[in-house]
Amino acid sequence: MKPQVVFVLGGPGAGKGTQCSKIVENYNYTHLSAGDLLRAERSRKESEFGQLIDNYIKEGKIVPVEITINLLRKAMEETMQKDDKKFRFLIDGFPRNEDNLTGWDTVMVGKADVKFVLFFDCSNEVCIDRCLERGKSSGRTDDNRESLEKRIQTYLQSTRPIIELYEKRGKVHTVDASRSLDKVIKNMFCLWFLDLDA
Ligand code: ADP
Ligand code: AMP
Repeated sequence: MKPQVVFVLGGPGAGKGTQCSKIVENYNYTHLSAGDLLRAERSRKESEFGQLIDNYIKEGKIVPVEITINLLRKAMEETMQKDDKKFRFLIDGFPRNEDNLTGWDTVMVGKADVKFVLFFDCSNEVCIDRCLERGKSSGRTDDNRESLEKRIQTYLQSTRPIIELYEKRGKVHTVDASRSLDKVIKNMFCLWFLDLDA
């Protein structure tokens, strides 16, 4: 079975990870976060990319696609090798820019079907407040005001155009992510029932 993919996009702290875990609790999807995979690779002792990834993350910049796409491809393959019924994936935080998209098209076209983009739409102020709050306990090197300003700029300059491109193709489902957790979950599952359960 070819992997079925939903890309999950939104600003830093929009709630992508939180909502993906809700979907995983209720549906047979596997959540792969590009950020989590990069952080795990950064911590891997034998990794040749540890320092590079560390610098990119602190600067809120987008890590070169060759690294990210290989981590994603490997994670998808390993998941499906363990259980061939696990072919549905939420890919969170990807594609974040044109380079990501080109990389995906080069490596994955014909090998996976992208169903649509789930877009968590949230104001920059709310995103920053949530990440600062998360930063009190996350231990993340980029949940601080200085990194966050850069991450928001990267999001606006590089990721928003990718969301707009998918919008033009009629492939975006938007959830108002500024609302309370309960409301966001409700809104998301309404969409899920309409379209995602296929
Ligand atoms: P992302 O994966 O988009 O970076 P997270 O899911 O980690 O974001 O959420 C960022 C922070 O905001 C977390 O501490 C989470 O608990 C909190 N959060 C997520 N969604 C909401 C919401 N709707 N209302 C309030 N806080 C939220
Ligand atoms: P996140 O965990 O999604 O907030 O991502 C944290 C950081 O990891 C980002 O600011 C980037 O530096 C890096 N990152 C996450 N996703 C990607 C991606 N798709 N391509 C390159 N870098 C990424």
